[in-house]
Amino acid sequence: MTDNAVDTHGMPGLTLLGLGDMGTALARAWLAAGHPLTVWNRTAARAAPLAAEGAAVAATAAEAVAAHRLVVVCLLDDASVGTALADADLTGKDLVNLTTGTPGQGRARAEWARERGARFVDGGIMATPPMIGAPEAGGYVFYSGDRGLFDAHRETLAVPAATRYVGTDPGHAALHDEALLSAMYGMFAGVAHAFALIRREDIAPKDFAPLLADWLSAMTASVHEAAEHLQSGDYTRGVVSTLAMQVAGVPTLLRTAEEQGVSPELLTPVLALMERRLAAGHGDESTTGLIDLLVRDRAVG
Ligand code: NDP
Repeated sequence: MTDNAVDTHGMPGLTLLGLGDMGTALARAWLAAGHPLTVWNRTAARAAPLAAEGAAVAATAAEAVAAHRLVVVCLLDDASVGTALADADLTGKDLVNLTTGTPGQGRARAEWARERGARFVDGGIMATPPMIGAPEAGGYVFYSGDRGLFDAHRETLAVPAATRYVGTDPGHAALHDEALLSAMYGMFAGVAHAFALIRREDIAPKDFAPLLADWLSAMTASVHEAAEHLQSGDYTRGVVSTLAMQVAGVPTLLRTAEEQGVSPELLTPVLALMERRLAAGHGDESTTGLIDLLVRDRAVG
């Protein structure tokens, strides 16, 4: 097959490496949209259902890469990307890496691709497999890196999920992805603590859930307040719930946990940061100042 092979409707072709849960969902979306698709997976058996749906199955990753100019990779981790592509000729290829990684891995992989003659874009998938090919589900993919590559393949990349290009730095897609996921885990921690508090009471979790969800939704306004504070440098502007007031409530939060027989281990780290910021004389701020306590020197390497 030649580069950019097209079918009778002129749909651009592409190669996809990796047919795990996510890769298979991506493959099905491109096949359903009529894109000629060449696939490869380390465990060949996983390609069989897709062959029946019209995909061309390559015997090796190198053979799959040779089939099209656009090569999308969705493997377990960054190390598996290096392993899978070790013998492939990437000269003149447009490599899109949808494998989850760190910002540093995205930048290093971009340099690695450049040395092999390929353009490179990294991606961060903000969707689960069932959300792929289902625009109404609201999933999307962050992309960053070579702008020319992204513009050339924008329509093809938009088939599985909406696209959000976040700049030429190949580390920024992963950074956006991991930042959102990190915030999500903070929310999961709060949700776990809240349910633990009511766990042994005569309160139905199903009655409590909408109260909790609505409260968390209302509190997302703090995200925008923090952004305004960070951009202005004034962490006191428009603050209604001061840090001093919030820290005054810490003993009540901890005593409630104790009364309910719940470990405070998810709560104490953030409360300790609030107390440190207050002790440093920032009682009239919001909690934005916690961000300054968290930021350290970058890890080297
Ligand atoms: P799976 O575990 O289902 O699949 C992993 C894939 O990586 C398989 O194709 C596997 O091949 C392949 N693989 C693993 N190690 C190697 C290796 N050393 N060499 C070659 N291939 C290898 O994962 P998913 O498909 O769910 O996820 C793929 C990527 O998508 C991950 O980076 C994940 O973080 C990301 N993602 C997944 C989401 C999800 O909800 N599933 C959501 C958002 C992002 P084999 O079949 O041979 O084992």
